[in-house]
Amino acid sequence: MKPADSIQDLQYFGEFGGINPSISDASTYTFLSAKTMFDTFEGNADGCYLYSRHSSPSNLYLGEALAAMEGTETSNVSASGMGAIISVIMQLCSAGDHVVSSRTIYGGTYAFLKNFAPKLNIQTSFVDITSLKAIEAAITKNSKILYCEAVSNPLLEVANIAALSKIAKKHKLQLVVDNTFSPLSISPKQLGADIVIHSLTKFINGASDAIGGVVCGSQECIDDLRNVNDGAAMLFGATMDSLRAASILKNLRTLHIRIKQHSANALYLAQKFELLGLKTVYPGLASHPSHQVFKAQMNTEFGFGGMLTVDVGSLKNANTLMELMQNENLGYLAVSLGFYKTLFSAPGTSTSSEIPEEEQKIMGLSEGLIRFSVGLDNDIERTYKAMLKCMQSVGVV
Ligand SMILES: *Cc1c(COP(=O)(O)O)cnc(C)c1O
Repeated sequence: MKPADSIQDLQYFGEFGGINPSISDASTYTFLSAKTMFDTFEGNADGCYLYSRHSSPSNLYLGEALAAMEGTETSNVSASGMGAIISVIMQLCSAGDHVVSSRTIYGGTYAFLKNFAPKLNIQTSFVDITSLKAIEAAITKNSKILYCEAVSNPLLEVANIAALSKIAKKHKLQLVVDNTFSPLSISPKQLGADIVIHSLTKFINGASDAIGGVVCGSQECIDDLRNVNDGAAMLFGATMDSLRAASILKNLRTLHIRIKQHSANALYLAQKFELLGLKTVYPGLASHPSHQVFKAQMNTEFGFGGMLTVDVGSLKNANTLMELMQNENLGYLAVSLGFYKTLFSAPGTSTSSEIPEEEQKIMGLSEGLIRFSVGLDNDIERTYKAMLKCMQSVGVV
């Protein structure tokens, strides 16, 4: 499967022969017959629209492109990445059920599983996702989901998706993979994942001007999520707006070019930082513990992604360096990822602050860690030289 070609090959025409699909500017839809309306409610009238929380043409166009990219039968877009994640967990789990999750996941997902889901009697065991033994040991008779990120936030651990899929199948679990950090580079469905989730907010939209999410899966799984009687996507109401779906679709079409540039720039910086003696984590470095795992499952042309971390020893160093780099216009001190400019933040005090300090230590999240989402800089060598000056002036190299 060629994920970028699958997006390229889709053909859409707008209502008046436009080369972009028309945006559906409607919350509700007319029916020519009352019978068709009834059938649509029952889920038996394909191609008919009912109400835009259920589905809308613009959302279906975007969803079709994302399903093509991930190689799944279909998908459902949502108002945010969290909207996608929570609807999947709530759809697959009932009270009394159990989730086995990687311990290094997005802070919001962690907070949901750790603090919110137990209120509904859904318990989670957090494990080191690179230890297949630990995963097997955590599975109980009530386990329903094996949850991980293909490349984890913020420590950039790499999930061995084929191996996880084997375990999931053996124990009849759904393998749910959040692929937000590695779109195009990794195709989890091809490696055996059942459900692939993205926060569209990040690389896929790439403009840091919108929030969105998607669940990619089988027709049955997406039908369940959209079911008017008991579908979590339908009932929780995290619906994407049609205008947003149209704008994200347009950005998705350049994703392959952007990912190549993010990856090339990140590899360049990671190699340079490592040579300086900084503790650098990037899946494209031979020193990364899961370098071989990433290599074995990647779509080579898209590289190892745009995310890297360096440890500069202390939170004070990290903060001073980030402020200086921002003053030198090398990027922005901001959370999130996938922007044309480099974004940097100290995860321990920002995006992963939901994770208690004690647990941060256990998982290796040190306070001097800076997470970089490397931008699309045309001349990365120039950027590196300016970053080096900042690092020298803070005294971390
Ligand atoms: C940002 C992010 C999310 C949450 O997505 P939102 O669009 O902010 O709701 C989930 N997973 C990962 C890996 C993320 O980076």
